[in-house]
Amino acid sequence: MKQDPIQDRLRQFESLCRQRGQPVTVQRRYILEAVLTRADHPTADQVYESAKDRVPGLSRTTVYRVLDVLVGLGVIRRLHHPGANARFDGRISRHHHLICKKCQRVVDVESRNLDDLELPPNQRHDFRIEDYSVHFLGVCAECDREAAQ
Ligand SMILES: [Zn+2]
Ligand SMILES: [Zn+2]
Repeated sequence: MKQDPIQDRLRQFESLCRQRGQPVTVQRRYILEAVLTRADHPTADQVYESAKDRVPGLSRTTVYRVLDVLVGLGVIRRLHHPGANARFDGRISRHHHLICKKCQRVVDVESRNLDDLELPPNQRHDFRIEDYSVHFLGVCAECDREAAQ
């Protein structure tokens, strides 16, 4: 049988909801699916555009609220980048991002080195790190070409 990672994630989501006593609504399922099927780190508005045809009567407010719930459950992540709208990421394993300052494109970066960053050992930080992600801010090749024209 062929593995379908998105279907697996949806099943995990359903069992997580059951564990937490949270309802698995059609809206939640489709909104999660809309985030998982896009690799471009969509904004809430883009998630709304992806999901609205499948969920009749879906409102932007509902999408915003459901995205908050999904982030709270840890099944998706919210990305905050300077100067950009919040974006949502269906990949919850550690990874990093290239962010274009001009078109706001967000591209995933995998790096073992970045995964193993540590705080400088000579500083005392009373802080337990749970997660982090490195953001490289710059200009993508497409915007660079446009600027050169
Ligand atoms: Zn760009
Ligand atoms: Zn990502």
